[in-house]
Amino acid sequence: MAKNVLIVDDAAFMRMMIKDILTKNGYTIAAEAENGKIAVDKYNETKPDLVLMDITMPEMDGIQALKGIKAIDPNASVIMCSAMGQQAMVIEAIQSGAKDFIVKPFQAERVLEAVKKVIG
Ligand SMILES: [Mg+2]
Repeated sequence: MAKNVLIVDDAAFMRMMIKDILTKNGYTIAAEAENGKIAVDKYNETKPDLVLMDITMPEMDGIQALKGIKAIDPNASVIMCSAMGQQAMVIEAIQSGAKDFIVKPFQAERVLEAVKKVIG
């Protein structure tokens, strides 16, 4: 069965780009969320195989959302999507249980490599 991914980013074009890369490579999209709060709700609703989580978002950022998801499901697989210069937050995310991170601007191969490594 196709692996289901929750895409979290406040930028619609970024969600669209990730969705495009994933669907072209056999993954399905569990849901999309434009902030961390919605991400936690959608995680609960859809229990996806993987979350691709932006860091900087309004309402609730990716670090808080990661912690919220991990509190619900300690086995949740989350890959952080960071911008340049967010090393401190990436380290906090990894310490909070993120499995990997990818840096914007995205290259399709790097996204797929990270996704495959985490969920196959
Ligand atoms: Mg953002």
